Amino acid sequence: MWEIIGHGVAVETLQRLLAADRMPHALLMTGPAGVGKRTLATALAKALTCTGDDPPCQSCIHCRQIDHGTHPDVVLVTRPEGKDAIAIGQVRELRDSASLRPYQARRKVVIIADAEALTAQAADALLKTLEEPQRQLTLILTAAEPEALPATVVSRCRIISLRPSDTATIVEALSMRGVPNSEAERIGRLARGTVGWALTAVEQPKLVGQQEEAIARLAGIFELDVEGRLQLAEALVADRKDRGAVRRQVELLALLARDLLLVQQGRQPLLVGEAARSRMEELADRLGRRGILAYCGRVRLTMDRIDQNVDPRLALEALLVDLP
Ligand SMILES: [Zn+2]
Repeated sequence: MWEIIGHGVAVETLQRLLAADRMPHALLMTGPAGVGKRTLATALAKALTCTGDDPPCQSCIHCRQIDHGTHPDVVLVTRPEGKDAIAIGQVRELRDSASLRPYQARRKVVIIADAEALTAQAADALLKTLEEPQRQLTLILTAAEPEALPATVVSRCRIISLRPSDTATIVEALSMRGVPNSEAERIGRLARGTVGWALTAVEQPKLVGQQEEAIARLAGIFELDVEGRLQLAEALVADRKDRGAVRRQVELLALLARDLLLVQQGRQPLLVGEAARSRMEELADRLGRRGILAYCGRVRLTMDRIDQNVDPRLALEALLVDLP
């Protein structure tokens, strides 16, 4: 049982590769933050080491040790707390341990989470491992921004791309975990396709209110003057260089645009929920269909700019100032 919510295509691909004994020695899992990259990487590590029936069985010693982070042959490399990069030392360490035979399982698995955090030297060191694959080693990289990785690294990996799940899938998964229906729908609406966020929100209910507040603030953008909009950009994204954070705000703006188009057609908004409907209707009236479509176009353009390595917050500021 893979126990993965959504991502049926990705899981099927991995199952097929496993069944044919053709698992590549390096994989790169891509997709937005919270979509489930690390969860899938962990499930694959289990599947590669599991000795139970129908791997990953979730109950053999390998599956359990991986759950607890104590499996001697499954290593997670990640950005150390308080540091902003994965240093070359960490990659050298993993190369040394990867060159040894597996200790307990039939193979070793190294998961490098958020691989875009590798320094240039660390990525270079990793490339050497990728160029000399070892039969008993599987490397799994995860990255929300694969564009930030050297092309030489990406080209040596089999790419498994994860897309956001639809709201219905998330609501169903939450309901199966005993979350009351209205709450599951509220969280599903706000999760923007990321199962990870939805599950965290169940455990930390204050996140739900915070997200609603952030959306309401963003929706208030049209009432602000230029000065106010620039202040909002600063409040939304404290770290100018944080491409992921900027992208999340722009994605929210895109979802708001979709809601405006929906309420304009007399349909139910998907992001803001019923409570904010009258305010959205007012706004949709004021902008008109042409205004909303122009707004959509600008959001799309900004997304492209962010992907093309323009200073991310500058792109966000330009968008906010430019909105009707
Ligand atoms: Zn197992």
